[in-house]
Amino acid sequence: MSIVAESEGNCPACGAPTFKLVGLLYDIPHFGNTVLWIGHCRTCGYRYFDLEYAESGQPTRIIFKAENGEDVAKSWLIRSKTGSIKSPELGFDLEPGPSAEPFITTVEGFLYRALDYAERLEALEPEKADKVEEFMAKVRRAIDEGGFTLIVEDPQGKSAIIPRRPEIVRVERLSSTS
Ligand SMILES: [Zn+2]
Repeated sequence: MSIVAESEGNCPACGAPTFKLVGLLYDIPHFGNTVLWIGHCRTCGYRYFDLEYAESGQPTRIIFKAENGEDVAKSWLIRSKTGSIKSPELGFDLEPGPSAEPFITTVEGFLYRALDYAERLEALEPEKADKVEEFMAKVRRAIDEGGFTLIVEDPQGKSAIIPRRPEIVRVERLSSTS
C-alpha cells in the first residue's frame, strides 16, 4: 500500500477547511491496482469514500468464501453506497438503502455489526427471539470457523474485497443489462 495523494480542503458537507482526503494505492487480487479515496472532516465528521480500479463503473459480483477464522479476521470488505451483501448460509440479504453509507471493515467487523443489529432487533421484537438467537449462533460460529459465502453485487463496481488469500475470492463482471 502506498499513499498517492493527500490534500486538505473545504468540506463538501459543512464548508469548513478541515476536510482531509487521502488516496491509497493497493494491488488487490482480482481487481488489480486500485486507488481507495478516503476523506474525513474533523469539524462535522463527514466521511467520503470512493474506489477506482481499471473496470470500476462496470457491474460486478464478488463471491468470497471464508474457509476458516483467519479468512474472516484478515480479509477486508469495502462496500460502496450501491453494494448489496448477501450470504446464503447465514441467511441475510442486505440491500443498500437510500441513505446507505459506504464502509470499509474486516469481514469479521462486518459480522460483529450484524450481531449488534440482531441484538437490537431482539430487544425491539422479543417475539422473534428464537429466530434471532439462532441467527446469532450461526454468525458467531462463522466468525470463529468461516464456512460461509458472502456475495457482494455492485451495479457501479465500487465495492471490493481484499482477501487474505487470492483463492477465496472470485469476481464476475456482469453485463449492464442483467
Ligand atoms: Zn465538515
